[in-house]
Amino acid sequence: MRIGAIEAGGTKFVCGIGDENGAVSDRISFPTGQPEETLAKAIAYFNDKGVEAIGVGSFGPLNLDPRSAQYGFVTTTPKPGWSGFDFLGTLRAKFDVPLGWDTDVNAAAYGEAKWGAARGLDSCVYYTIGTGIGVGVYAEGKPVHGLVHPEGGHILTRRHGDDRFEGCCPYHGDCLEGMAAGPAIEKRWGVKGSELPEGHEAWAMEAYYIGQSLTSTILLLSPEKIILGGGVMHQRQLFPLIRAEVQRNLNGYVSAEPLLSGIERYIVPPGLGDNAGLSGALALGLKALNQAN
Ligand code: ADP
Ligand code: ZN
Repeated sequence: MRIGAIEAGGTKFVCGIGDENGAVSDRISFPTGQPEETLAKAIAYFNDKGVEAIGVGSFGPLNLDPRSAQYGFVTTTPKPGWSGFDFLGTLRAKFDVPLGWDTDVNAAAYGEAKWGAARGLDSCVYYTIGTGIGVGVYAEGKPVHGLVHPEGGHILTRRHGDDRFEGCCPYHGDCLEGMAAGPAIEKRWGVKGSELPEGHEAWAMEAYYIGQSLTSTILLLSPEKIILGGGVMHQRQLFPLIRAEVQRNLNGYVSAEPLLSGIERYIVPPGLGDNAGLSGALALGLKALNQAN
């Protein structure tokens, strides 16, 4: 079986071919430019590959409502040229196969539930902490959409008492993304996160904000696993700091073994590593194919 997968990121696109077991046999990557030229590259890649379905996990916001005339569109992104772009329609014009479509983070959560760290579980939440912060929700066996789709990267935060940084989200200032994504770390401390030493106070402050949002996530959704990916989470020392923040915040209130004694198996890196996004897109393609048959 040959399923196409597109991980459409704001910085780069990854396209690949995989099978029903999640094994990826081929892939290419190119920078995200203007939508027409970027999609043309993806179309050229899949043209001679004989795919039976294509799954897309994209940066958003997206229209995921199949009843809407704008289903398959990228909606209000500030990324130049992409707002109002008919992503899925552009693919559909070239490929007469089932198409799966969801946010990059919902795709990653779904892929992790199918083949990765949340394998066999009914629910998980996937955070990417990189250039922005995105949150994907998989619950009761499917990616959650609701009104639009979850936008947990922009939840409001309680500021750290020692933090004088004003925040840098263009919409909200000091929302989670504005306080804790890669660019916020760089603006607050004056150097890129990757250049800060492991013991720097930046990491305790980062864990404070991430731990706070994870606490809200646990209280609101009660996921069976939380997976933290993205460039910033390459700082592995953040994991124990974040787990400690979550336990401190919850203060024993939610009585579940994974939160009390098993938290190192509850808040984890992606089981699929940096392939979580592409594998998730593959899983969406597979789902679309199964639904069509
Ligand atoms: P994107 O979010 O654009 O898809 P990434 O997940 O790689 O890509 O995130 C990029 C952001 O993460 C940048 O702000 C970068 O400074 C930060 N980053 C990347 N690697 C590291 C690292 N090892 N430590 C800390 N921050 C990092
Ligand atoms: Zn925001």
